Amino acid sequence: MSYVLVLNSGSSSIKFQIVDPQASASDTPFVSGLVEQIGEPKGNIRIKIEGREVGSTMPIRDHRGGLQLAIAMLDANGVGPTQMHIIAVGHRVVHGGQTFGEPVLIDDSVVDQIRELIPLAPLHNPANIDGIDVARALLPDIPHVAVFDTGFFGDLPDGAAHYAIDDDLAREHQIRRYGFHGTSHEFVSSQVPELIGQSQEETNQIVLHIGNGASISAVRGGKPVDTSMGLTPLEGLVMGTRSGDIDPGVIFHLYRTAGMSIDDIDDLLNRRSGLKGLAGVNDFREINARIADGDKKAKLAYDVYVHRLRRYIGAYMIGLGRVDAITFTAGVGENAAQVRADALANLEGFGIKLDPAKNEEGSGARIISADDSATKVLVVPTNEELAIAQKSAAIAG
Ligand code: ADP
Repeated sequence: MSYVLVLNSGSSSIKFQIVDPQASASDTPFVSGLVEQIGEPKGNIRIKIEGREVGSTMPIRDHRGGLQLAIAMLDANGVGPTQMHIIAVGHRVVHGGQTFGEPVLIDDSVVDQIRELIPLAPLHNPANIDGIDVARALLPDIPHVAVFDTGFFGDLPDGAAHYAIDDDLAREHQIRRYGFHGTSHEFVSSQVPELIGQSQEETNQIVLHIGNGASISAVRGGKPVDTSMGLTPLEGLVMGTRSGDIDPGVIFHLYRTAGMSIDDIDDLLNRRSGLKGLAGVNDFREINARIADGDKKAKLAYDVYVHRLRRYIGAYMIGLGRVDAITFTAGVGENAAQVRADALANLEGFGIKLDPAKNEEGSGARIISADDSATKVLVVPTNEELAIAQKSAAIAG
């Protein structure tokens, strides 16, 4: 059996999985693990190997130390990269800019080009590059592949891809709408046509990837025609800690009247806004629990969240003209039946009707709309790691 080691390096964490690229979407990965609190006094590593969990707590100085530790722990449990038949290391890279669409085999020049894109993704690409550098040094004999979160959206139509600002300035600074979560939108949207008994070419669909980060896309015949994230993953839907859309005037106002620096405002909108900003917590389960206890802030957060979802769903219905399927995925989309019901409430006049029992029950990829709903509504679990493994295996040959 051949496997792919999938790496997702964040600023203070490394998530990894050892995945059989032939597995089906619902299979649990052979190995999954997390190194977290890198650079902090107390680091933490946890690895799940076929359901069994191992781990330890210790200071982890940097990404190199984190990955070394992970590899040593995998080795000690008989599933190290040299003990398994690993055919590729697949790296999730957040921003491919206008340089990268499709996944690429990594060499020094690819790393340099990803480095050049740091101004577009200052919060994400540096950590991705750290992960790539360390993994290439530790596993030099295995092909490394970069899979870009922006990739799926490389050909957005002009109307959806541009901001209405000075075009020369935008071009000079590569300011345009890139879109993110592309691996997930592609993976989920590619499964929908078969589930509703249509060909991909004739399917118009909307995909809601709503987890901690959240985005929505409109896909026609397998090609995205709009998406809610833009230059950065900050635009669009309300998220766990990100504001999503706001009037840019709010930024000027905070700068001029609240005396906040640009970095303060960046931190506010990316890490202290969204559900967390409105209700104090970013986990949707906690929002629901607090609403049940009568917490008004949690209810406000929920209402803003659902209002934004409906605004985008409406816009994308008009953009597509006819919608064959609306699909929910990721942590909230797959698990929060009430959010699905509220996002699509009272749309029978538009041919969208949920089946309440199907919405509440079941698991895995499934249709949750009523039999007479013209637009099918689905839940399709995403599996970005499997998608990265498949793409990496295809490139590494
Ligand atoms: P990420 O964007 O970090 O990959 P996920 O897609 O895993 O996030 O989604 C995580 C979020 O999903 C959690 O923060 C939580 O709010 C939400 N979630 C998970 N399970 C449930 C549930 N049963 N009900 C409501 N929300 C849930």
